[in-house]
Amino acid sequence: MTIRVPIVENILNANDHLAVENNSRLESAGVYSINIMASPGAGKTSLIEQTLPRLKDKLRVAVVDGDIATSIDADRAANAGAQAAIQINTGGDCHLDAVMLRGALEQLDLTQFDLLIVENVGNLVCPASFKLGTHKSILIASIPEGDDKPYKYPGMYRGVDALVINKIDLLPYVPFKMDYFERGVEVLNPGVVTFPLSAKTGEGMDAWTNWLVEQVKSKR
Ligand code: MG
Ligand code: ZN
Repeated sequence: MTIRVPIVENILNANDHLAVENNSRLESAGVYSINIMASPGAGKTSLIEQTLPRLKDKLRVAVVDGDIATSIDADRAANAGAQAAIQINTGGDCHLDAVMLRGALEQLDLTQFDLLIVENVGNLVCPASFKLGTHKSILIASIPEGDDKPYKYPGMYRGVDALVINKIDLLPYVPFKMDYFERGVEVLNPGVVTFPLSAKTGEGMDAWTNWLVEQVKSKR
């Protein structure tokens, strides 16, 4: 009955060990890195697509996209101006892990980049449990998902360093109580830096991208 727990812990320990190695690799190349997590459809790829042109002439960016089967997201990142875009097909797995990221890092000349953006597989449960070795974890919530997500997925909200609230242009059309949502976030992750924005209209995008540039600079 109790056997499965230690097995799971061992897998996570092995993953954490590789995550530390990934982080040293990024550190020694001077690359700042973020892991973007969200449910499917929250707008991870759209946010990346709208972020890249705003970082043009400021940062050299590589994007690693985790996807169960396709390379659509990496193609979009490349078209939006990523200097490199690598697709990791997880072959059915619902999250990225440190081994997968290591495989992607091995394909990049990391000295050529300032920022690595990792788009995790769309999932609000297990990506939070698998460290990749990135510097910061970013969660994208979106208005159509509803205001109850912090209450339903506390593990995801608890562990992140920044929260993007996407699709705020839909607030007039969707029953989303921002104060209820924010109360849930505050309990799990007090004071987490939050960016309400719309990747579609561009509202709030500058605050997000300015913060990202500041993060990269403070790391140098
Ligand atoms: Mg995507
Ligand atoms: Zn998973």
